[in-house]
Amino acid sequence: TIAFLNGEYMPLSEAKISPMDRGFLFGDGIYEVIPTYSGNPVGFIGHTSRMAQGLKAIEIANPYTVEEWQIILSSLVEKNVALIESENIGIYFHVSRGADTKRFHAYPKNIAPTVFGFAFEIAPPQPTAKEDAKPFKVALEQDKRWQRCHIKSTSLLGNVMHYQAGVDAGVNETILYNSEGMITEASSCNVFIVKDGCISTPPLNHELLPGITRAIAIEAFKHAGLVVTETWFSKAELLEADEVWLTSSSKEVAPVVEVDGKPIGTGEVGEVWEKAIKAYHAYKFKA
Ligand code: PMP
Repeated sequence: TIAFLNGEYMPLSEAKISPMDRGFLFGDGIYEVIPTYSGNPVGFIGHTSRMAQGLKAIEIANPYTVEEWQIILSSLVEKNVALIESENIGIYFHVSRGADTKRFHAYPKNIAPTVFGFAFEIAPPQPTAKEDAKPFKVALEQDKRWQRCHIKSTSLLGNVMHYQAGVDAGVNETILYNSEGMITEASSCNVFIVKDGCISTPPLNHELLPGITRAIAIEAFKHAGLVVTETWFSKAELLEADEVWLTSSSKEVAPVVEVDGKPIGTGEVGEVWEKAIKAYHAYKFKA
């Protein structure tokens, strides 16, 4: 893999940072994962503007313009496509506050951020027939992360622990609910349900990441004439839904057939998912 580090391209194995980097010591940074298919990114503007907002929130100056990020993305795809041997490439961007000479919590002044990028293989686009889709099973846990989940921080231990709970339970992901029992998101995805033909996903607040796939999916569904609302739903409503889906840059819109050991709907990939994934594919490069 060819990586990008602080303005230069190099083999990933040669990319080195200081152990005093605040990304390493404090998880003090912002990241993005942008999916590309045959070199075409999905949601590039959404990803770079969310990164800009995250950097602003933690007072790190954005090191590059959108045009410069675009060049880094294309260069990483171009340099890695033959090495990865796939047309399905995820681009990781990471900006940490940089390396200081001492370990001190407050933001140091005048240090250069560390900017890192690399490319990796992602799953191919979701199939459009329900028989071909990989059905997901998920665990359910109370969200025990922090109260700034709208910031795409590199401090991911909370997410990692929730994801691991799912792995330990033998499933693919963990859906989270807040102290009121309302579903917020999953440890690395947003959540949608379908009930009586109506699609819903929780509205945005500090309890969930404003997923780019979520945003594109909402637009795509509306465009295709599907009914979609941003409304809260409880654990009980999740379990009683006809369908449950997860969205993320690497999974697109993924069907969930089992939550906490209980089947969702018929226990098979749903009818509405087929319409939804077709709508998503038809729209995703236009977003
Ligand atoms: N929620 C969390 C906690 C995430 O980490 C992610 C990204 N993996 C998402 C939602 C989905 O966001 P996106 O669609 O922008 O990938």
